[in-house]
Amino acid sequence: ISAWAKLAQAPEDPILGVTVAYNRDPNPVKLNLGVGAYRTDEGKPYVLHVVRRAEAALVGDRSRNKEYLPIVGLAAFNKLSRALAFGADHPAVLSNRIATVQCLSGTGSLRVGAEFMAQHYHTPVIYVPVPTWGNHNKVFPKAGLKLLTYRYYDPATRGLNFAGMIDDLQAAPDGAVILLHACAHNPTGVDPLPEQWDAIRQVIRAKRQLPFFDSAYQGFASGDLDVDAYSLRSFAADGGEMALAQSFAKNMGLYGERVGALSMVCATPEAARLVEGQLKLVIRPMYSSPPLHGAAIVATVLGDEKLFQEWKVELKGMADRIIDMREKLYQALVARGTPGNWTHILKQIGMFTFTGLNKTQVDFMREKYHVYMTGDGRISMAGLSTSTVPRLANAIDDAVR
Ligand code: PLP
Repeated sequence: ISAWAKLAQAPEDPILGVTVAYNRDPNPVKLNLGVGAYRTDEGKPYVLHVVRRAEAALVGDRSRNKEYLPIVGLAAFNKLSRALAFGADHPAVLSNRIATVQCLSGTGSLRVGAEFMAQHYHTPVIYVPVPTWGNHNKVFPKAGLKLLTYRYYDPATRGLNFAGMIDDLQAAPDGAVILLHACAHNPTGVDPLPEQWDAIRQVIRAKRQLPFFDSAYQGFASGDLDVDAYSLRSFAADGGEMALAQSFAKNMGLYGERVGALSMVCATPEAARLVEGQLKLVIRPMYSSPPLHGAAIVATVLGDEKLFQEWKVELKGMADRIIDMREKLYQALVARGTPGNWTHILKQIGMFTFTGLNKTQVDFMREKYHVYMTGDGRISMAGLSTSTVPRLANAIDDAVR
């Protein structure tokens, strides 16, 4: 008899489980719009040319070895990631007030940041938007933070519930940690406008709360790295403290390489030094040190002016294709006279459209049309292509009639 015989059957992950179900479906026309991964217009995974070139350079360089990285990761990667997020000439960057550690993509950065806050922060309570990326609801409590929520999305307008958000931040305790999606809010695709960000920042600063930015889509949303960094740079510009979890999964297409960074912007260089020391104590017993390859790719691309410029072009290409899919899907629904207002498909930002379809409609589309999406009606626009738009439009049209 196994030591594990009495274990309960674990449920599938609500997002990754969509792919499990998709893989089991033998129908050849099946379409996976569940997971947030970019596909070409031919429906294929995409390795960026700059990544291929950086990899070729790394492999060809015989002076490189496979030694362990330090606990905090690759120094060049940390420096360049920080500059990418905040701008190379930002005062916090120049004055060494930011402690940056390389982590296992965005998720690992969130987890290390949360573990650190649970141990050392005076108010180990975190507020996340409703709804939010599902894993936030698990990562933070597992790390020991108390999880609470603030209003964010308004189903009636399919836009931001700005007044509700401000009220809830006002009502949250002084000092609480506030999780913010830097851009391209997942799953809703609804972001605050710049002036709304400024108002949000004023509340958070007045209440001495700690903003914790999750930046999984810099450059991937608008196609412009600086535009997408507005929110976190405006917080950094006021000189206050903040945390940032950065992922290179989407914007450099490095999903499986697990490359990301946690940056803690501190009030003083001395505080940043202390924070870095304690972060090392969090990381060492978890996984000792991060992997080398992905960080070396990112450092090569960001550190070479020519590759960096080429990356920006490829990034814009990916963002533009997604925006084009929004237009095509919207037009396809209009052409079918599909009941309802679908302008939110055009307005929402980033990888996902929060369609407003309910669970019954989602199940119907899966069964009849073999179209897979998460149960909350979120579809990955990056998984859509010119040839699959008509089928999705037919499925939505049928589901809402
Ligand atoms: N945060 C958000 C909002 C995301 O959408 C994702 C990916 O889907 C992540 C974090 C983390 O992704 P990864 O751990 O692959 O970098």
